Amino acid sequence: MVAVRGRPRNPIVVLLPPLLALAACAGPAADRAAETAGQRSPAATAPSTASAPAVAAPTAKVPPAAPSPAAHGGPARPPDFAAEIRPVTAQDLGQSWRPGCPVGPDQLRQVRLDYWGFDGQPHRGTLVVHRTVTADVITVFRTLYAQRFPIRRMTPVDAYGGSDDASMADDNTSAFNCRNAVTGGPATWSAHAYGKAIDVNPVENPYLLDGDVLPPAGRAYLDRGAVRAGMAVPDGALVKAFTAAGWTWGGRWSDPDYQHFSRTGR
Ligand SMILES: [Zn+2]
Repeated sequence: MVAVRGRPRNPIVVLLPPLLALAACAGPAADRAAETAGQRSPAATAPSTASAPAVAAPTAKVPPAAPSPAAHGGPARPPDFAAEIRPVTAQDLGQSWRPGCPVGPDQLRQVRLDYWGFDGQPHRGTLVVHRTVTADVITVFRTLYAQRFPIRRMTPVDAYGGSDDASMADDNTSAFNCRNAVTGGPATWSAHAYGKAIDVNPVENPYLLDGDVLPPAGRAYLDRGAVRAGMAVPDGALVKAFTAAGWTWGGRWSDPDYQHFSRTGR
């Protein structure tokens, strides 16, 4: 499904160091402006100084992790994992937030971090999460990056007009979205509305609810025993990384939500 994306995210672009901004403009994903703004192109990642974009950021910085095991004797060593934590405004959140939501922009943070793509390359994505879980998120995604667990894309849902369906259909990994829980019961805020849940690779990890498969493309992944790249499976890298941080996996629910990881247990 073609999502509403590509809307310029000027506040972020303005904050980018010149090197990254220039490289991103020439990157292969220029058709996805929202993601490109936060994504390293190969040109930016090739030098050994690849983590430099984080250095000039005016916000909290996280030091690179120790080199991953893959650095020894394997393919070319990937850039060190890096992440940045930035404040967000109501304008940043677009249609994913409105007055009356259970948490305000002041309680949320952008975590811009590196992830490993299905293309075998490092990328930089953005998750919007509650300020109290930023350390958890960085720990989890640092682990996934070191293990080269593939993630399709990572763009805040305002790029999809706040539509969970559109974000899922695009196989987008995301966190904050001020919306109700997707259940058959009475309306309640989702843990996503607090920025305390993350959906990872929704196509590879669909939500099975009353016979529905969300997103519909997730039907290709109903056989959970046929493990393919990007899937959340018991004892797999994704589930282990989140549960080690104390997060709950929705894949164990009676209506399994394989993409869903939550700090609240819901
Ligand atoms: Zn979810």
